[in-house]
Amino acid sequence: MRFSRAFIPTLREEPSEAEVTSHKLMLRSGMIRLHASGVYSYLPLGWRVMRKVEGIIREEMERIGAQEFLLPSLSRRDLWERTGRWEEYGENMFRLKDRRGADLALAPTHEEVFAEIASHEIRSYRDLPQIWYQIGTKFRDEARPRSGVLRGRQFIMKDSYSFDTDEEGLKRSYELHREAYLKIFKRCGLDVVTVKAHSGIMGGSESEEFMVPSPAGEDKLVLCGSCGYAANVEVAASVPAPSGGTSRPREKVHTPGMRTIEEVSGFLGRPPSKLMKSLIFMAGERPVMVLVRGDYEVNEAKLEGEIGPFRPAEPEEIERITGAPVGFVGPVGLEGVEILADETIRGQVDLATGANLEDYHWVGLEPERDFRVDRYVDVRTVREGDGCPKCGAGLRVLSAIEVGHIFQLGTKYSEALGATYLDEKGRAHPIVMGSYGIGLERIVASVIEQHADESGIVWPISIAPYEIYILPVNWSDPKTRDAAEELYGKLSDGHEVLLDDRDERAGVKFKDADLLGIPVRLTLGRGLKDGKVEVRRRKDGRTWEVPLEDAAGKVEEVLEELWNEVR
Ligand code: ATP
Ligand code: MG
Repeated sequence: MRFSRAFIPTLREEPSEAEVTSHKLMLRSGMIRLHASGVYSYLPLGWRVMRKVEGIIREEMERIGAQEFLLPSLSRRDLWERTGRWEEYGENMFRLKDRRGADLALAPTHEEVFAEIASHEIRSYRDLPQIWYQIGTKFRDEARPRSGVLRGRQFIMKDSYSFDTDEEGLKRSYELHREAYLKIFKRCGLDVVTVKAHSGIMGGSESEEFMVPSPAGEDKLVLCGSCGYAANVEVAASVPAPSGGTSRPREKVHTPGMRTIEEVSGFLGRPPSKLMKSLIFMAGERPVMVLVRGDYEVNEAKLEGEIGPFRPAEPEEIERITGAPVGFVGPVGLEGVEILADETIRGQVDLATGANLEDYHWVGLEPERDFRVDRYVDVRTVREGDGCPKCGAGLRVLSAIEVGHIFQLGTKYSEALGATYLDEKGRAHPIVMGSYGIGLERIVASVIEQHADESGIVWPISIAPYEIYILPVNWSDPKTRDAAEELYGKLSDGHEVLLDDRDERAGVKFKDADLLGIPVRLTLGRGLKDGKVEVRRRKDGRTWEVPLEDAAGKVEEVLEELWNEVR
């Protein structure tokens, strides 16, 4: 491609609307443009990268025997009613009515639609196992679309679904996917961490996520540097830091206007770890009190695992249930409400919490001696430095981008949608399903996050929009032009080459070359009068000065090395 003919609208200025690196660079390099909140247009350069990622994913899916479909984005309401997800998806699902008034959804995922096809078409154990996949657009009306394409309201996902006769088969299909995913990420030049994950709205038992540590990520990843334990903070366990203290009788103290952990901690002169948070949540109509040490937060995903969908109680509800206003609530003497205590409360002494009386707190509390605990649970968010649940070493907590997620669904969808098969004896059983998702935009943006430097993008060769950038410094010089044209002709046979044939200043060309992140740059500059050109590797700036006649060979050699890194 000749740059003078290419549509690559690069931007000199930092786009003010972008915060994270990948978003800035995708805008600046002319890969994407914003259409509406969380909705982007891909311009040619961006789409070339997406297509390469898509190609890698397709190859690895075909390699595990998966077969490609393309299912509709418009999806009937009745299907989602049958699995309960018409309700459950809430505001995240785009919904519309057709001209006859029938409800449709823009599919946020396709478990229902694939399971319905299986329910009509799969009859016998002989038809199984199957792995079906597609690469297509998903729609989710995300509460906070941000970070560019990392959290879009319309995005491209490869989703696959496995259908097996039993759990053992499911485990095999799951394992095949995990390996295929690791290959996909390796081939895209992406370092990922595989973590235990929360299955959320998909349901099912086991699930794992593929995470890219990055400050741009919205997920939190808990990692043990010592034994390799890794989990999403939504499911991560830990050994809390000890909090000490000595046993003493309880005492009610006057704490006028002191409501928050900081206020009470400052007023009473005791660290947050010697306070106890007493929180009220509503699980449907049922109030639940949750106790956690003052230096920890309650984790929503973990708590949902214990009590089902819930919301924080409103101030009026709290007052009705405990008799005290927010900030002065506690478990002492509380009746008719289930009390769950996080493991951080077990065996503690000398805790302080609200006395169910305005402007008063208890101090010196001990669980079971001074208040009832109905159940001990793990509902806290792991903190940096907590002990690893496997080996005890200090845990690290990192921000990360979720690029893929694999689920062992079991029979939730097949039961709801009547997807059954007949065994050898003619008995019907629900098909055992798995589902597996990978976000194409997330891969592209994560690669940028992981490799970019202060000058711009650094593409791994496997997904770069072009492999080679030919940069004739002075295009108006006939000698330079001839040499550039010749190399362009030669290298275009077998490679994707971008020839910067613009009459631009050298500075502009060098800046664009760096910004676009093409892996190999071939510069025809001052050295040309001595018959020399420069070959440069984008990722580390390493350069080789070579005679003009050896240039193509050197480029091939550098490319080969780059390919070896992503095989
Ligand atoms: P998140 O927790 O980040 O909202 P999710 O867990 O809802 O994502 P899944 O349903 O597991 O996402 O979807 C599979 C994959 O699709 C994710 O691993 C991610 O790569 C991608 N993905 C999900 N939501 C988005 C989005 N809003 N924008 C871009 N990619 C997304
Ligand atoms: Mg997920």
